Order: sequence, then C-alpha cells, then structure tokens
Amino acid sequence: MTYADIILPVPLDGLFTYSVPAPMEGQVRFGVRVLVPFGPKITHVGVVARVHGKAPEGIAVRDILRVLDTEPVVTATQYRLWQWMADYYMAPIGDVLKAALPAGLKAEEGYKPRTELYVRLRPEFGSARGLHVALDMIGRADRQRAAFETYLSLSGWAAAADSGNGGTVAEVTRDELLNASHTTTAIVNALVKRGLLETYTREVGRLNTGGEPDFTRMKQLGEAQQRAYNEIMFSFLKKNVVLLHGVTSSGKTEIYIHLIKQAIESHKQVLYLLPEIALTVQITERLRRVFGGKLGIYHSRYSDNERVEIWRKQLSAAPYDVILGARSAVLLPFARLGLVIVDEEHEQSFKQQDPAPRYHARSTAIMLAQMTGAKTLLGTATPSLESYHSAQTGKYGLVRLAQRYKGIELPEIRIVDVKDLRRRKMMKGPLSPMLMAKVREAVEGGRQAILFQNRRGFAPMVECRQCGWVPRCERCDVSLTLHRRTNKMTCHYCGAAYDVPQVCPACGSRELHTRGAGTEKIEDRVCDAFPEARVARMDLDTTRTNGAYERIIDDFAEGRTDILIGTQMIGKGLDFDRVSVVGILDADSMMNYPDFRAYEQAFMMMAQVSGRAGRKGGRGLVILQTKSPDAPLLDYVVRNDYGALYREMIAERQAFRYPPYTHLTYIYMKHRDETVVDHAANEMGSMLRRWFGDRVLGPDRPAVARVKTLCIRKIVLKLELGIDMAKVRQYLRAAQKAMADDPRFRSVQTYFDVDPM
Ligand code: ADP
Ligand code: ZN
Ligand code: ZN
Repeated sequence: MTYADIILPVPLDGLFTYSVPAPMEGQVRFGVRVLVPFGPKITHVGVVARVHGKAPEGIAVRDILRVLDTEPVVTATQYRLWQWMADYYMAPIGDVLKAALPAGLKAEEGYKPRTELYVRLRPEFGSARGLHVALDMIGRADRQRAAFETYLSLSGWAAAADSGNGGTVAEVTRDELLNASHTTTAIVNALVKRGLLETYTREVGRLNTGGEPDFTRMKQLGEAQQRAYNEIMFSFLKKNVVLLHGVTSSGKTEIYIHLIKQAIESHKQVLYLLPEIALTVQITERLRRVFGGKLGIYHSRYSDNERVEIWRKQLSAAPYDVILGARSAVLLPFARLGLVIVDEEHEQSFKQQDPAPRYHARSTAIMLAQMTGAKTLLGTATPSLESYHSAQTGKYGLVRLAQRYKGIELPEIRIVDVKDLRRRKMMKGPLSPMLMAKVREAVEGGRQAILFQNRRGFAPMVECRQCGWVPRCERCDVSLTLHRRTNKMTCHYCGAAYDVPQVCPACGSRELHTRGAGTEKIEDRVCDAFPEARVARMDLDTTRTNGAYERIIDDFAEGRTDILIGTQMIGKGLDFDRVSVVGILDADSMMNYPDFRAYEQAFMMMAQVSGRAGRKGGRGLVILQTKSPDAPLLDYVVRNDYGALYREMIAERQAFRYPPYTHLTYIYMKHRDETVVDHAANEMGSMLRRWFGDRVLGPDRPAVARVKTLCIRKIVLKLELGIDMAKVRQYLRAAQKAMADDPRFRSVQTYFDVDPM
C-alpha cells in the first residue's frame, strides 16, 4: 500500500496521511494537488508533500479522491521555504499553503482559462475546387458571400488557393472576422449552418505580453551611482545581503535596473519586492520600458485567474526573468533565482499581521535567497534599525549614496509651531498660514504640492459637547471615524459603519461636534481655499476600486492635478518631478503612538514624505506642523540625520532589551468572554514564567483590547540572543497545546507573533 502525506489548507499543525488507490500510483507525487475527503462531509484540495509505504498507526486512513495535476505545482524549494515559515513564525503549514497558493489553485475548479472563439473553413472545402463549390452554395446571399470572402482573405485561403500549392493558413477569431467584414454574428452563424465554416475555441493567456525588452532604454548611471553599483557587486562577493542606504532620489531604482540587467544576462531571475501596491504602479512603468515581456507583476490586485497564470508561467520552461510584487510575491516559484531586491526595506507593511502566517517578507526573502544561493539587496533612505545594525556589525554589506541624483539638494525643512499659532489665533483650519502661502505659490507657479495627513476619513473623533460622549464600535474597543462622503461613522478595525446620530444618545444634546482632521476634511478645506486648483486624495477609501491607484498617480505625475492629499501611501518611494512643497500636517500623531518602534517610524515616515519634494528642478520645501517643535526627533528630521536617530534608538533598544538585542515574540489570546480570556492569559503567563522566568512580561491589555467582539490579551516574551530558539518554539507549542487541551480554555484562540512590528 502506498501513502501520501498531504498539506491541507487547515489551521492545524502537521501533514495529513491518505492512502493512494492503485490506479493513482505514479500520479501521486511531490508537489501535485489532490482532492481528499476531510471530516464527514467536506473535501479539500491539498498538495502532496511526501509519498511513502509506511502505514500510520492507530488511525483509519482514507483514500485520495482525485489527482488534479499531471505536473507538480509546487517546487521543492518552495516547500522548504514553507516549512521554514511554519516553523519560524509558528504557524500551521496549512496556513502557509493558504497564503502561498493563489485562490485559483486552492479550489478543485478554481481556475478558469480564458477562451477565444475561432472560425475556420470546413476541411472538405480546402482546395481551389472546394472553394468554388462553397461560393456556389452561397449563391446570391450577398452578405454571407462578403463575410466568407473576407474570411478567405484574412486566413490566407484566397492566396493559397490561387497559388495552387496550399500555403499556410492563418487562424482567424470570430471577432476579427466580424470587425473586418463589418458583419453580424448571425451572418457568420449562417455560414456555419451551411456547413462551410466551423467554430472552435482555444485557450488564450490573460497576461500582458509586455513587448520587447530594450536595454538601450536604460539610463546611464551617474558617477556616484556607478560607484555604488560597483561596491554592491563587490560586496556580494563576500556577503549574501547588502544594504543600500541611499537618500531619497539618489537614484537607487536606477541602480536596481542595472543590477537586474546584469542578473538577466547571467540567466538568473530577479525578485523585486515593494511594500505597497501604489508603488508598483510607477516602478512597473520604469521597468517595463527596459525589460518588456521579461517582467511579471504579482500582487493582490490581480485576479485569481491571472495569478494562477503567473504562477504557472513561473513553473514553465520560460518563466519571467523579473517578478515585481508586493509581499506575497516571495511565495512564487522560481527556478533560477539570482537576486532579490527589497525596496523600502524599512517598511512595516512587509510584515503580515493577520491572518497567519505572520511573516516578514524581508526576512522570508533573505531566507529564500539563502536557500537558492541568490543575493539580497535591501534598499532604503531610512534603514530599519535591525538591518542597519546588521550592516554595522558586518553581517550585511553596506553601501551608501549620500547625494541626490544630479546633486539636487535635499529639501529644506521648516518647523511650524501650531500650538503657538493657535494661541495667537492665527491657525484657521488645518493648514498654517505659511503652508497656505507656499501651496499657493506652488500652484500659481505651475508646480505641485503634497499634503500628508496620516488619518483617513473626515474626523477621527465625534464628541458630545455637553457630556463628552464619544461613539464607539460595538464590536471593537475603538472610537469611530466620521466619513462625510458616505455620511457614516466607520470602525477602522472591523469596517463596521454606523449612522451619525442627530442627538447624543447619552444626554439628548444636539451639540455633537467633530475633533481632529482626516484626509477628507483636509481635502474640503483645501478645495475651499484653492478653488482654482485641481485636488486629489489618495488613501484607502479612494483606492479601493481597480485602477484607482494608477489614475491618481498618473494624474499627478502628468500634472493633471496640482495638490495631492494622502496618508502614508503617498510617502513611499513615489517619484514626481514638479513637487516643490510638501506639508506634514500633524507630526505629533506619529510621534505619540504607544509602540517601541513609533519614534523611528515617525522619523522614517517624515523623512520619506519629505523625500517627495524637489526631486527635479530645484530644491524643495517641507513644512512640518507640530505642537512640540522642540522634540529632538524633529531636529533629526530637519537635518536628515539618520545616524543620530540610529544612535539614540539603538542605545535605547540595548538598554531596554529590545531587538536586535533580543528575540521578541508576542503571545496573543482571544476570546469573547473577558473573564475567560483573563483567566487563560494568566494561566499561560504562569506556565511560561515557570520555563522562562522574568523573560515573560504580562499578560496585558493591548492598546485596542477588543476587536470584532473578541477580547484580546497579550504576553511579551523577550529572549536573549544565542538562546536555542528551536527549543523555545517547542515550549511555546507545548503551551499552546496545553491551553487547547484544557477544557476550560478550549475555545480560547492562542497565537504567536514572532518578530512583531
Ligand atoms: P530613488 O529610488 O533613490 O528615490 P530614483 O531612482 O527614483 O531614486 O531616481 C530619482 C530620479 O532621478 C528619477 O526620476 C530618475 O529617473 C532620475 N535618475 C536617477 N538616476 C538617473 C540617471 N543615471 N540618469 C538619468 N536620470 C536618473
Ligand atoms: Zn451628550
Ligand atoms: Zn469595529
């Protein structure tokens, strides 16, 4: 008897063993998908991980129902990476499978090929004589005759029959025929009915063929860029990972393009990861010009069917040479990976939050590169502390680009004290007088402005003036954000939308007012203040539909809009030529966030947003509005002094035992009932303390302690470097199992967030 161990898309640890019916032997092998029964009623599509002859003990094994592939859809390297992710991030391998496979491969009939309808001549008429017979049959039906003759010339039958030697006949789609002969489907159908033509379908790909690559379109590297390029190549001789620390607009992307070309010429594939789909829009255009059809794009905005086609192309004999994508692209198959580029490597969105696996795409990419012998280049103007520390300690190579391309100066950054302006009654609305003046100057001078407000919606808070009542989500412990466009109050944690009350439900007062400003409000104010300007807004709400990113970014890049308002989405690596002023409207909301990374994140966000100013045509200006103008952090931002930020933060991390000086893991527990989750978390806390002592902190209530009706508790585990993490994970798994096996806590969810952000 043959057995197969199968990865199933279920959140349970381990593989599942099934027996292989005799007729399927040979077909069931590593990497192919199979359909199996699961439980009394359902079936799952799983991937074969192993085939063996060892009957599992003590359990009834069921048969595989069907084999879905003739060739493997998962490579051995992918499976190794999945195993690493499952182990390191302590997630069931089934969850990794779920994250990796496009939906179209996860269902039995998930993928639908696109087909096209073709027409062709019935074979019995395929000769000069046959054609005459056919034309005779049509007789006086003029429109049919015209359509038929058009078909003969499109397909080349006319010429072939004339020359008398057959010749080659081209395939003609029905649509081509309809267009060329200006006729109707009915006429073509009549020809089919007469038995002269027949139709057939053919599968066609959905993927953009992308045109011919043209390396001559590459820009020649400037002197500093060339030096950096050489240093990177040299560094790769000794190090597997190199950090390119280059200020904004220093031409990093151009260097990547040269590195990609070099890799392609050595017959290697490149994976180019970006943190944000918005960014792929611009970079796609830059890469497409040079690499044409060698470039594939992969992210969640693509349809399931398209993603299946990209996946399959990666498995084919002619895969893409370059894959550009967001986080999940690291999970694609690669046959000959040579280089991984992680652009904007400091971005937190590389870390997946929910659902499991809570993996970091940068770490995963480095692991993938290590498994395949590829090199990894991390690029950014504001390195993550972890990466910079690795570069400082010699684990990674480090290459710097301190100058902007063409020597354009970094923008001047002016701080505006909002508190002081308010005191002097000079702050009318969210834009200070200076920012107003500079935006006006930009718009009137044919330049552009970017306004950054890291909150979407109209107002982050609604409040009763009489009693202080604040509307909150019924399912989450957060206050609601007012959205004017939809006239709803929305929960940004679960998405629930509520009607705006006319009177305060607590005291009956009509004096409900809003506090704070989100991007919608900024947009309103800006439109009022600059009626002649063309204003666009880019945030989660305006980019939900397909093509919305492209439209907003293109319009701004082409100068069809003057002022762009947005959340952190606009801060990431976008390259615009005509932006002369950038306004950071509320620096404080970034600095006062309760998280150990908040401070450096605030620096990075402000430095990145500032980097959008003055990239071409003269030095830009950044106006930074704050209530705490003396914060040392702002001084670092003004001087663009990453080094100072790094020194302060790394000292703090060391003093308080945070990464990179420790391994950090959060243990989350969730349950509907507050007392149950408290009880469970306390039990878990004491269990972990028995093993790990004072390395365990908590349990505590996280900043948002209830989401989607589940109460959340958090335990922090800080482990010194050099500890045996494999052992630690064993303990943690044992603790998780002990909780699951305890009848009191069976319904409590316990999960881990390894290297949390
Ligand atoms: P970064 O990725 O460091 O922010 P980019 O690669 O986007 O910088 O370069 C900034 C701008 O300068 C872009 O508009 C880019 O086209 C231009 N640029 C960079 N390098 C060159 C070069 N060697 N030749 C011409 N233009 C360049
Ligand atoms: Zn009230
Ligand atoms: Zn909610």
